Amino acid sequence: MAIKIGSDLFERLRHRGVSEVVSGIFARESIELVDKYGARNYHPLPVNVARAEGSRVWDSDGNEFIDCIGAYSAVSHGHLNRFIVETAEEQLRKLSLTSRALHSSELGLFLEALCLYTDLDKACPINSGAEAIETCIKLARKWGYSIKGIPAEKAEIIVASGNFHGRTTTIVGFSSEEAYKDQFGPFTPGFKLIDFDNLKALDAAITDQTCAVLLEPIQAEGGVIIPHSGYLAGVREICTRHKVLLIWDEIQTGFGRTGKRFAWQWEDAKPDLMAVGKALGGGIYPVSAAVGSNEVLELFKPGDHGSTFGGNPLACAIGLAALAEMVTENYADLAESKGKYLRAGFSSLDSGKIKEVRGKGLLIGLEVNSDVDGSDLTRRFIGEGLLTKETRHNTFRFAPPLTIEMELLESVVEKVGRALRDC
Ligand SMILES: *Cc1c(COP(=O)(O)O)cnc(C)c1O
Repeated sequence: MAIKIGSDLFERLRHRGVSEVVSGIFARESIELVDKYGARNYHPLPVNVARAEGSRVWDSDGNEFIDCIGAYSAVSHGHLNRFIVETAEEQLRKLSLTSRALHSSELGLFLEALCLYTDLDKACPINSGAEAIETCIKLARKWGYSIKGIPAEKAEIIVASGNFHGRTTTIVGFSSEEAYKDQFGPFTPGFKLIDFDNLKALDAAITDQTCAVLLEPIQAEGGVIIPHSGYLAGVREICTRHKVLLIWDEIQTGFGRTGKRFAWQWEDAKPDLMAVGKALGGGIYPVSAAVGSNEVLELFKPGDHGSTFGGNPLACAIGLAALAEMVTENYADLAESKGKYLRAGFSSLDSGKIKEVRGKGLLIGLEVNSDVDGSDLTRRFIGEGLLTKETRHNTFRFAPPLTIEMELLESVVEKVGRALRDC
């Protein structure tokens, strides 16, 4: 390995091309390089992906897998969606980055499309999901001080245990997962944790200093936890009654994943602010946004917030293509019908090892009994050519591209059946 990655690395990259040099690296070597030079903040499956198309990926040895991880719902369009790739290629021959010091038509059109799609008034474009949440937090606090009249430095945001909103220091500070926080403090004050899926607890936690409630409509990372029917609408009602902003984190559940454009639409629980990301990037580029009402978004004045890459023309062109594809191909309906099929398939597996199959649309959790060895089962899934990863609560998440073919879904059910039988 040391022979290949020598001091002439940059010359070879420059003269033979990045793609060719990358192709010459074996899976084993690549995993060693990541281990040696990378921070070890991930524990990936031992699969070195070399190529992907639609819902299938191939490792560098040519083995084929069905992708049920789907980059945690960021490749809802499937890998390398033709229209989005063509859009990006065209954009890359024209304009990619301006910074917000200048205007671009891509930005204007993207903001309009995003507001049309979300049925909200204004958006602040940014890059990652965590940044979208940070943006929502800043907006909510400013709203709390300037509109609601909360005394300076006292604004409070209510969040739920089991939450996952990203990895910045502020965000992990209000996580209920010790592992996310351990030795990363001190944390930002101003957050109050309550039980998820408990309307009484929410009602009781709100005070005059509460500016917002920030929740996921379904806790995906938390183990695909679906609140009781009536919860989303109940949260909306409580927030309205107490004059508190409702912020839905739809970063993973949004853009058709659960069978509606956004999970809040299952109960018409329209938010004041919403964080979106993941699938908005069409599976090829990070694109996120905080989207909301005029009353809230208008509070940002020049200098209040920003990001060098936020709203760049390439991101906006890709976001536009991603939105157009989702609307014209009815992604929400695809998720609903394919999700029903997959859940029924899992439920029909006659396995004593399954504790529960739950989900909405194509966001599905397969919870196995606590005595099942999760890493053994993961290995067997990989052996079957199926990619899925365990989340909390002994739950394997299935979030394949919404464009996945029915034959592949059939095959997913068979593979899961065999892996469960053998483990
Ligand atoms: C992935 C995710 C985030 C964080 O998004 P990043 O792009 O990884 O920063 C936040 N909230 C939810 C619900 C997510 O699934």
